[in-house]
Amino acid sequence: MIDVQHLTKNYAGGIPAVQDVSFSVAPGEIVGFLGPNGAGKSTTMRILAGYLSPSGGQVMVNGLDVTRKNIEVRQSLGYLPETCPLYTEMRVREYLNYRADLKGLSRRHRSAGVERAMEQCGLLDVQKRLISQLSKGFRQRVGIADALVHNPPLLILDEPTIGLDPNQIMQVRKLISELSSSHTLLISSHILSEIEATCSRVIVMGKGKILESATLAELGERWSAGVEIYIEVKAALADVERVFREFPEVKSLDLQQTEAWTCGSLLFHSGEHREQVFECVRKEEWPLRELHAKRQSLEDTFIKLTTGEGKA
Ligand code: ADP
Ligand code: MG
Repeated sequence: MIDVQHLTKNYAGGIPAVQDVSFSVAPGEIVGFLGPNGAGKSTTMRILAGYLSPSGGQVMVNGLDVTRKNIEVRQSLGYLPETCPLYTEMRVREYLNYRADLKGLSRRHRSAGVERAMEQCGLLDVQKRLISQLSKGFRQRVGIADALVHNPPLLILDEPTIGLDPNQIMQVRKLISELSSSHTLLISSHILSEIEATCSRVIVMGKGKILESATLAELGERWSAGVEIYIEVKAALADVERVFREFPEVKSLDLQQTEAWTCGSLLFHSGEHREQVFECVRKEEWPLRELHAKRQSLEDTFIKLTTGEGKA
């Protein structure tokens, strides 16, 4: 559905916003485009959507070259820009009709398309309202309905939940998950949990380059700092540290004592160690009230990736 090869974009006078970027997205995939502000996500998406021309490289959408078949490409995708420009003095239905006209839909396709998009986005109840009177969450839905009105197979959504409250975020996520069964989706965000909630694969961008392209599971595995076991035992900190420092494969300890209890984490390079840890606690005859493995959060992974810290 998307094939980008050696894409470069230089804005006048600046450092390249996108440098030699290559990736592809297969039909039906839901891909998250992740990276901190300024990484080049919006620039790449604008080029994919045919709104900005590349400085170099080749960009194919739905088998069509974006530069040479600009109009056809725009017809095969729906694009929600980062700040969606809406005509706020228009009413919802009126605006979507107008957008469908601009996209060249015939009269018949237009009313069917507008009806379907409003239904998909939960806008039927507000179709006669002025856009200026809608909440931010509903305006975002109008933007998504606009992207959907010509029923394109590919949707490119640039930070679709930015600036929404938690309730609105849940509603837009639900809409995205409904759309994912019938569309290929590329969704950008600078927040990892956003991508985790909606996407199956993630492309991580930083400073104009692609840093990683993997499934969320692969990403977690590849970038995990190790395996963490959290314990709480009734023993002196010094004793617990002495015993576990000599434990095979322990990488580091992060323990604190509160009154009679020592609590905290044992970090291992890899593998499963809960049983051995328990055996050890039993041998020392320490009362135990907690022992569990902690998953390294992908948030940590993301920070490591985008700040350029070396792999653990
Ligand atoms: P992201 O969407 O990941 O935050 P952008 O694609 O918006 O990143 O920006 C990438 C880089 O390009 C940034 O350094 C930004 O300042 C620069 N940039 C974006 N748009 C323009 C523009 N219209 N003119 C000049 N520089 C721009
Ligand atoms: Mg952006």
